[in-house]
Amino acid sequence: MRTGLFGGTFNPIHAGHVRVAGEIKEKFDFDRMIIIPSAIPPHKEAVDIAAAEHRFEMAQKAFPDKSEYVVSDIEIRRDGPSYTVDTVKHFLAKLSKNDEIYLVLGIDAFLEIDTWMSYMDLFELLPMVVMSRPGYGDKSSAGVEGTIDDFLKKKISDEYHLAKTGRYYEHALLKPVYRTDVTPVDISATGVRTHVKTGKPIKGYVPEKVEAYIMDKGLYR
Ligand code: ATP
Repeated sequence: MRTGLFGGTFNPIHAGHVRVAGEIKEKFDFDRMIIIPSAIPPHKEAVDIAAAEHRFEMAQKAFPDKSEYVVSDIEIRRDGPSYTVDTVKHFLAKLSKNDEIYLVLGIDAFLEIDTWMSYMDLFELLPMVVMSRPGYGDKSSAGVEGTIDDFLKKKISDEYHLAKTGRYYEHALLKPVYRTDVTPVDISATGVRTHVKTGKPIKGYVPEKVEAYIMDKGLYR
């Protein structure tokens, strides 16, 4: 079984998340995607963050197909801040022989990975898939590629180099880092929250059931 782990604050989950999760699942031939809302986000100021239960519930509404998209409560059940390294170790411990897991993240998140707890362990533990996102990365030359290249070499290890296929960066001791362009979706959770706060419609920005949930519970006002 091939699995993509897709974590985030998901405050709230939006159409960009849904779109890219689907594209990556197809492109990388994953059998399932595990969507993992974080508890206390270690990187974001704890203002305007909906309760974990709400974010979890919205994620479930955004991914109704439970056979291929599993929303996990592993991080929100764990005490304290959510560290991706703990989550990855949890899933790795459950793997059987033919299973493979990949960490899926946007280029904006990837370029901050050196601020994450025990981030070097992540490069030792599992391959990553880094997705493009509008507004991030170096557009002037090779899209996000130039940026990933630079970051890997400067911040992680200068022995990372592009594989012959051009699909991923390889390293003798560390796991591969795949780079992939997804359809640009210029939506952010911050944008969605601002829209709600200022009374602008969010139709199309989030799945319909998520929109209804936000309105019903009075979130982000
Ligand atoms: P915020 O605006 O609050 O910072 P966000 O929209 O970036 O939130 P997160 O929950 O922080 O949402 O993102 C979870 C993951 O999804 C991250 O890896 C992020 O890079 C990725 N992601 C979010 N939105 C997009 C998008 N539109 N295109 C590609 N990747 C995205």
